Amino acid sequence: MRMLSARNICKRFGDAEVLRDISLEVDQGQVVAVIGPSGSGKSTLLRCINQFETIDSGEITVCGKKMVSFDERLQRTVYADKDTLRKIRLDLGMVFQNYNLFPHFSVLRNITEAPVSVLGKPRREAEAEAKVLLSKMGLSDKAEQYPYQLSGGQQQRVSIARAMALSPKILFFDEPTSALDPELTGAILRVIRALAQEHMTMVIVTHEMAFARDVADHIVFMDEGVVVESGTPEEVFFRPKEERTQRFLQRYF
Ligand code: ADP
Ligand code: MG
Repeated sequence: MRMLSARNICKRFGDAEVLRDISLEVDQGQVVAVIGPSGSGKSTLLRCINQFETIDSGEITVCGKKMVSFDERLQRTVYADKDTLRKIRLDLGMVFQNYNLFPHFSVLRNITEAPVSVLGKPRREAEAEAKVLLSKMGLSDKAEQYPYQLSGGQQQRVSIARAMALSPKILFFDEPTSALDPELTGAILRVIRALAQEHMTMVIVTHEMAFARDVADHIVFMDEGVVVESGTPEEVFFRPKEERTQRFLQRYF
């Protein structure tokens, strides 16, 4: 089943064309890794899909719900109504590079806040679920701590638990380990790997090439706002067709 279909996405900031005719398809249970140099538009793509930015043209469908489409009658790109957009937002979870935890809330409260206030879950139930997630993240003993008392790697695992608490149908990661010291990235990558084994549908922007090669089903290489090349890890990492892909990968392998 197709979980995400983004077609011919164009996005500009002023005069800068940041996404130029980008397409991305994700099936249920698939793990897609998006790679590419800094400034190529990876974060913008994730932000557009997650409704943090609007697109200028193109079509986005999430779990069968049309988020943006081309209206033949109006001859322009139109967004769905507010209610549909809100429902779509609940299908999507995002983990940011800098965790973005609420500094004045405990770890437990960071995870339960949205389920209680957005979904109207009883606090007790939300807390019980949060504790299960924390134990999966290896953080059972941190529930009452505050973000500043945790390492970056622990904070990032809390932010993954926070995203999971809303049971998203697709989970997006924007460079989840790039703010972390190398010794702390392993735990994050293990958590994402475990989610992949549970068939969580994920789109991961990452510079961890070995990880992308091992965990992703599909690799998308972006450069300067376009998808230069995409395919299986085999194809993109071991038999890249495009010179730009080859040049980029030389820096890693
Ligand atoms: P990546 O995540 O691949 O490093 P980004 O999506 O962050 O790339 O950025 C792509 C380009 O868009 C960059 O040139 C960046 O400066 C520009 N950009 C990103 N966000 C904005 C914004 N809010 N306003 C203006 N330019 C932006
Ligand atoms: Mg980025």
